[in-house]
Amino acid sequence: MTDMLTPVLSDNWDTERPWTLESYEQTGGYAALDTALGMGQDAVIDLVKESGLRGRGGAGFPTGMKWGFIPQGDGKPHYLVVNADESEPGTCKDIPLMMASPHTLVEGVIISSYAIRANHAFIYVRGEVLHVVRRLQRAVQEAYLAGHLGQNIHGSGYDLELTVHAGAGAYICGEETALLDSLEGRRGQPRLRPPFPAVAGLYAAPTVINNVESIASVPCIVRNGAEWFGSMGTEKSKGMTLYSLSGHVKRPGQYEAPLGITLRQLLDLAGGVREGHELKFWTPGGSSTPILTAEHLDVPLDYEGVGAAGSMLGTKALQIFDETTCVVRAVLRWTEFYKHESCGKCTPCREGTWWLVQTLARLEQGKGSEQDLENLLDTCDNILGRSFCALGDGATSPITSSIQHFRDEYVRHLTEGGCPFDHAASTLFA
Ligand code: NAD
Ligand code: SF4
Repeated sequence: MTDMLTPVLSDNWDTERPWTLESYEQTGGYAALDTALGMGQDAVIDLVKESGLRGRGGAGFPTGMKWGFIPQGDGKPHYLVVNADESEPGTCKDIPLMMASPHTLVEGVIISSYAIRANHAFIYVRGEVLHVVRRLQRAVQEAYLAGHLGQNIHGSGYDLELTVHAGAGAYICGEETALLDSLEGRRGQPRLRPPFPAVAGLYAAPTVINNVESIASVPCIVRNGAEWFGSMGTEKSKGMTLYSLSGHVKRPGQYEAPLGITLRQLLDLAGGVREGHELKFWTPGGSSTPILTAEHLDVPLDYEGVGAAGSMLGTKALQIFDETTCVVRAVLRWTEFYKHESCGKCTPCREGTWWLVQTLARLEQGKGSEQDLENLLDTCDNILGRSFCALGDGATSPITSSIQHFRDEYVRHLTEGGCPFDHAASTLFA
């Protein structure tokens, strides 16, 4: 079964102190940078396009295509910004990656910045994870001292400054344009798109914003080639990726496997659902992706497969819940999160998430009515597609999908005068 795993990004995680430059270089680190510097910028962009790498932050936008939007030869400043503000409930892949092997990300940043002709790059990291901020800062310092960053990198004539910037703890700053506002020193709130950051991003200059895992995947593509990368995964969703299993699973953690693997196969690798219990529902990519059920165990975990099943691959944060978990309570918790994190810029999300929490709490406490179920769906309908950014849309996903799959359970909260579950038995959301 373990032959289903394809450790590439996580390959050095079990080595001695893999976060140090010495350890990273011993396993071939920074050799891809030399290769890239010898290829020329356009060839690196072509290679990434050819590999089929798609954004690992959730949306799956083709990385090489995004880089291709940056005007080349305009002589103006360009920026690379790494979105390391990982905050989606259940999502926990970028933080372990940066802790275990920060130099994989730093090498990816240098190659990617070189490709898009940027001379200043930023890693915008979630402020709460101070240990990650420190680890990145140390790695960047080591890279400067070794000549991988700064002036005339590896004697190529290419210069790059890399700044690690810690956010201040707002989920919305993971939305790429809010992140830019925050980086510029303003309150982080989404900007209207278009223009997309590739046209007018940081300081109104052309900017590529990519997720940590996307950028960290670049060195191995340069090292092994586009064909090697494409030999893993499916026709439209190529390569390997990090799946994060959490919740009611025997061995939670990161599992690096090709896109297109199924939850059934991942659960086999992770020892299955906890002893004596069975799968009830799960999220494919964090709490803003519609929930799926045991019926979907064989859905290929790639952008197309999960989409066809009525959800989204998102961040590949597979949160597993067994039959002891009350779906209404889980959804209420997630909705409280979205209400708290709503930036307040637009009415459907600011007011709508407040109403969603009130209604769900009433239902969970057994004080609701059948009309509340209709009100929930109606409120979601008024948020979805009418919000300024993806946060509002995402907040509706767990509600509409849980009513679709577990309407009876909502009704039981009405007919049985409250929540029929023993929350201590679930241990999650207790
Ligand atoms: P999106 O599909 O609107 O955009 C994806 C990327 O492609 C962006 O960088 C955007 O600038 C670029 N893009 C799209 N169209 C473009 C065009 N025509 N020209 C130039 N560039 C273009 O998605 P989004 O709103 O940026 O992100 C939503 C995703 O974020 C969701 O799928 C969700 O899973 C994910 N998410 C992740 C986290 C996390 O913690 N990692 C948290 C919340 C949400
Ligand atoms: Fe802010 Fe929510 Fe509107 Fe996004 S959808 S702009 S988070 S209020």
